[in-house]
Amino acid sequence: MLRLPRKSVELIKKYLLRQQRQVEKNLIEVEKDDPVTTPSLAETGEPGTDSSIADTHGKSLVFEKSLTNAKTSIIAALQKIKNGTYGKCEECGKQIEIGRLLAMPTASRCLSCSKKVIK
Ligand SMILES: [Zn+2]
Repeated sequence: MLRLPRKSVELIKKYLLRQQRQVEKNLIEVEKDDPVTTPSLAETGEPGTDSSIADTHGKSLVFEKSLTNAKTSIIAALQKIKNGTYGKCEECGKQIEIGRLLAMPTASRCLSCSKKVIK
């Protein structure tokens, strides 16, 4: 059973929903800033002729990727809250420390398991 305080889960859920909205907004912004969003422009662009476009495009891609990753983990965390499995370590199945969840609501591993992964 989930041992997390209901109040904390509600708080985290609200935070995650807010984060999700923010990330989605940022993703739209990134796509707007990216000069190579339209496929026709990407196709006609000759390599080396406009490095500034390619450069901005590259930066947008990196930013977009990190935003997409953030979005994925937010959605996964929200799904877990819905399923009642939120706060369970994906590695050892133990309860993730509440302090850790409050600091990093998208954490899917407990502190000791996340340390193992980094090593
Ligand atoms: Zn663990």
